[in-house]
Amino acid sequence: MASPSFQAPKGTRDILPPQSTRQRALIDLFADVVERASYGAVSTPMFEDIGVFLRLGEATDVVTKEMYDFVAKDGNHIALRPELTASVVRAFVQHRPATPWKVWYEGPQFRYERPQAGRYRQFTQVGIEALGTSDPELDVEVISLAADFYKRLGLEQVTLLLNSLGDATCRPGYLQALEGYFRDNIAELSEQSALTLDINPLRVLDSKRDQDQPLIDGAPLMVEFLTPELAEHFDQVCKGLEQLGIAYTLSPRLVRGLDYYTLTTFEFAADALDTAQNAIGGGGRYDGLAESLGGPDTPGIGFALGVDRILLACDAEDTFPAPSISPEVFVVDVSGAHVSLELTHMLREAGFTADRAWDNRSMKAQMKVSDRSEAAFAIIIGEDELAADSVTVRDLRGDSGQRLLKRTELISYLQTQLR
Ligand code: AMP
Repeated sequence: MASPSFQAPKGTRDILPPQSTRQRALIDLFADVVERASYGAVSTPMFEDIGVFLRLGEATDVVTKEMYDFVAKDGNHIALRPELTASVVRAFVQHRPATPWKVWYEGPQFRYERPQAGRYRQFTQVGIEALGTSDPELDVEVISLAADFYKRLGLEQVTLLLNSLGDATCRPGYLQALEGYFRDNIAELSEQSALTLDINPLRVLDSKRDQDQPLIDGAPLMVEFLTPELAEHFDQVCKGLEQLGIAYTLSPRLVRGLDYYTLTTFEFAADALDTAQNAIGGGGRYDGLAESLGGPDTPGIGFALGVDRILLACDAEDTFPAPSISPEVFVVDVSGAHVSLELTHMLREAGFTADRAWDNRSMKAQMKVSDRSEAAFAIIIGEDELAADSVTVRDLRGDSGQRLLKRTELISYLQTQLR
C-alpha cells in the first residue's frame, strides 16, 4: 500500500535555506536595532489561557473568528497566540519588573485567516513593547525604531500612517457621535457592519467593504474629540517625529485590528506591495491593557512587524538578499585515509566555515560537489599530499590558482586569504 503523502497545512509554509537564513538575518538585524535602544529579548509561551487573548476585544476578527483554541487534557481552555502584546503584558503583570520595561520579541503567531499572498495562518512577527511611561517621546522612540529597521533593510517605499485614538476620557463621547452618525445612515451600511455597530462602532471604520466606504469617509473623526491634554500628547509625538526627520501621514480613520489601542496609533504600509497585504507593521499605545489583565494601571506602547510581508516588500524593492550560505572552504579527500574528517573539524575550530564531500567518491565527483557549494577554496588531499603531510589549496573564486602547503601552514594561509 502506498504511504500517504503529506503537505504543510493550508496557510502555512516550509521555509527552507536560503530563505530561512534570510529570515534569521532579518531577525538579527532587528535585534541589533532595538538592543541598541536597550530593549531586552523576552520569550513567552506560544499558547496562553484563552482569557489573556479575550482582552484583545470582543468585536475583533482576531478574537471572534481567527483564534486556534482548544480544551487541553486538563480541561483548560487554551489558545495559540494570535499576537504577542497580550502575552507580553500578561508576563509584565505576572513578574512586575521595574519600569520602564522595554522588551523585544520574535516568533510565530497563529490566526485562522483565509490564506492568500502575504496572509498566512502561521506567520512570524518581530516587535517591541515598552511599559511604564506615558512620555510622548517614548512614542517617538518606538516609532523611530521601526522606521530605522525598515531603512536598514534598504526599504525606501514605506509610508508611516499616524493617528490618535484618544482614551477613556474622550472616547465615549466620540463613540456616541460615531454610533449616532452610523445609525442615522444605517440603510447605507453593509449588513456585517450594522452588526459590528452593535458591539463597537469604532470597528466599523475598519471595514474594507466597498459599500461602507462613502459613509466611513464622512464619519466624525476621533482627533476632533481629543481633550486638550491628549491633543497636546499627539502634537508632541508629531513634533518629535519631525525633529528626527521621520515623515508621516496623518490618517484620522486608522483604527487597527485590536480593541485595546489608545492615543498614538500607527501603521507602516509598503507602497511596493498590493494594498491587500501592504501593511508591514503597526502598533500603538494600550494604556488600559495591563489593568484589564489584573495588573496595576500601567501605560504601554509597542508594535509588531510582519516578517513574511517585510521580506515580500524587500523582494519588490530588490533589497536585503538572502545571505550566502556557501562555505569558505570545501575539503576534497581522495587519499582513502579519512583526512577530511579531521581537517574539516580543525578548520571549523579555527573559525572557518567548512564543508566536505561524502562516500569516498572520485576526485571528479568530489570536485563537482565542491564547485556546487560555491566555496572560496577547495582543500584537496590525494595520495601525494597524504605522503607529504600537505594539502593542495585551490582558489575557486579568484585567480591565485593552486598551491601546495604543509598541513601546519594551512590555517595561517587561509587567514591571510579570508580574514
Ligand atoms: P497586527 O497584529 O494585526 O497589527 O499585525 C501586525 C503585522 O503582522 C501586520 O502589519 C502584518 O505585517 C503582519 N500580519 C498580520 N497578520 C498576518 C498574516 N495572517 N499573515 C502574514 N502577516 C500578517
